Amino acid sequence: MTAPERQVDLFVIGAGSGGVRAARIAAGYGARVVVAEEYRVGGTCVIRGCVPKKLLVYAARFREAFEDAVGFGWSATAPTFEWADLIANKDREIARLEAAYMTTLGKAGVEIVKSRAVLEDAKTVRLEATGERIRAEHILIATGATPHLGPAIPGIEHVISSNEALHLDTLPARVLVQGGSYIAVEFASIFAGLGSQVTLVYRGDNILRGFDDDVRQHLRVELEKRGIHVITGNTVAAVEPCGRHFTAHLSGSMQVAADAVMFAIGRPPAVRGLGLESVGVRLAPNGGIAVDEYSQTSVPGIWAVGDVTNRINLTPVAIREGHAFADTVFGGKPTRVDHRCVPTAVFSEPEVGTVGLSEAQAIAEIGDVDVYKTSFRPMKATLSGRDTTVLLKLLVDAATGRVVGCHIVGEGAGEMIQLVGIAVRMGATKADFDATMAVHPTASEELVTMRQPTLRHRRKAAE
Ligand SMILES: Cc1cc2nc3c(=O)[nH]c(=O)nc-3n(C[C@H](O)[C@H](O)[C@H](O)COP(=O)(O)OP(=O)(O)OC[C@H]3O[C@@H](n4cnc5c(N)ncnc54)[C@H](O)[C@@H]3O)c2cc1C
Repeated sequence: MTAPERQVDLFVIGAGSGGVRAARIAAGYGARVVVAEEYRVGGTCVIRGCVPKKLLVYAARFREAFEDAVGFGWSATAPTFEWADLIANKDREIARLEAAYMTTLGKAGVEIVKSRAVLEDAKTVRLEATGERIRAEHILIATGATPHLGPAIPGIEHVISSNEALHLDTLPARVLVQGGSYIAVEFASIFAGLGSQVTLVYRGDNILRGFDDDVRQHLRVELEKRGIHVITGNTVAAVEPCGRHFTAHLSGSMQVAADAVMFAIGRPPAVRGLGLESVGVRLAPNGGIAVDEYSQTSVPGIWAVGDVTNRINLTPVAIREGHAFADTVFGGKPTRVDHRCVPTAVFSEPEVGTVGLSEAQAIAEIGDVDVYKTSFRPMKATLSGRDTTVLLKLLVDAATGRVVGCHIVGEGAGEMIQLVGIAVRMGATKADFDATMAVHPTASEELVTMRQPTLRHRRKAAE
């Protein structure tokens, strides 16, 4: 085998959220950095995740806005919607962002190569596009995760993932979405908002597994109010083409007619074919690359950040991990990422915002927990006449008064939880919340005005 053609300080595999940040910061510390990307610079978040999805979410929300406007004196003149315009505008914005990412990396002195890259040994990477082999003092694996469609059921070839859903030629009149994850409920909301008839099929007993049970139930009811048919305890067993449409056969023997069938049932870490086994990079039991608290893998000099490590699969987490890696390895500042208390949102309609423990987790971890919960009709619904309610919930450690969880379902929940997240992370107590003046009239003011617990969980007295 010939010697590698050249040597760099850092080779990053994958120009997504984690890889781009790590490459830019490392280059800022003076490292010679190459980043390889097999698809498009920006990764999942920018190209086929958070950003295009949120643009579609905005589009979908106009339906309610037009309907609600009537109660406020506006006369709606039957607005029409063009899917092709939305997708073209969305694609233009994504292309602009991709170009901006490339410019930023270029200005930082990072070399971008458009190729799939694989490990050849612990210090060498091979570019599949050219066959070039590059030696690197450090290698960062930031390959993210990819949608998987589950077992090869009959008709699986007709099923799309979120990747294809962002590029459909036309808006399907009827959509079946399988999954209970945040991506599944977000796409169900998008299609419903844009006018599709949506069926959401989930194998478990309720959507959004892992979220607070009140949030799960509240959102399910709200989705149903918006016309989404939620079928739980079922899976799609077969997808049968019927002309230009499909019949989905469910495990419970129901049948659902659909023009598009989308699965959002998981995103395993993208580890396949990277050459990990041959160089000794170990995987964790959850299929992600096993790393220590500094994102170092089992092989010294090989590091991994973001979804490929399957820790918390969110863009800000991948970015923080990439930044911490660069600080640790090239900035002389060993930096760990704190994965506790990560606020997050689900951009369904209505939105969910959550930080900290669910009620079940709080009971399991703390035991003595006070629950403050309220559900009410938002002021806007009084004139719009919309049948919707907001949910606000705080979980408080009864011994210390610390707020250990906050859960919101309603308009603006994502924006609210970003700010509540600061207080919860700092260890704010219920008394701190109470001492904060309300902002009136808002929905979130209830977070500082809930006086009495609705429920008190107490460990049984010592037996
Ligand atoms: C539909 C959808 C919606 C989402 N919405 C949100 C949201 O609202 N908020 C949020 O925080 N997160 C959201 N996420 C999750 C978020 O996109 C990811 O957590 C984030 O992108 C992870 O960043 P990463 O750097 O680990 O990987 P990615 O961003 O996935 O980047 C990995 C890159 O590596 C490339 N690659 C893979 N293998 C190779 C190889 N061998 N050689 C070269 N290149 C390779 C890939 O092409 C990809 O560009 C969403 C995800 C999806 C799918």
